Amino acid sequence: MNDCLFCKIAAGEIPSTKVYEDDEVLAFRDIAPQAPTHVLVIPKKHVSGWYDAKDESDAALAHLMRAAATVARMEGLVESGFRVVSNCGPDAQQTVPHLHLHVLGGKAMAGEMA
Ligand code: 5GP
Ligand code: ZN
Repeated sequence: MNDCLFCKIAAGEIPSTKVYEDDEVLAFRDIAPQAPTHVLVIPKKHVSGWYDAKDESDAALAHLMRAAATVARMEGLVESGFRVVSNCGPDAQQTVPHLHLHVLGGKAMAGEMA
């Protein structure tokens, strides 16, 4: 999509600190980290959010989730644990309308999720 920030990052038009990449997904560090590890995992293809993702294959969505686990392993979070968050829509405070998973770790997080 022409005007999408994460599409531009996926295309390399806007720089990012890459953590992991394969044919389908890109993982890069969040510009405003909320934990010692805060990585965003996105499909390279534009998908605006989870409602839009109904048109994606189960395999593509599983691949995205698996990439989040790969990032957690690469960041050394398997023993300590980590949190995967995906905000969808206004109440969840989604600010970038391109499907993404936040991988958060490196500290003990709040017990409440909302
Ligand atoms: P959301 O609020 O949509 O769940 O998550 C969007 C995330 O993108 C936020 O955590 C925000 O800090 C991050 N972000 C916004 N603009 C940029 C950017 O230009 N580069 C990077 N690396 N992260 C960004
Ligand atoms: Zn996009």
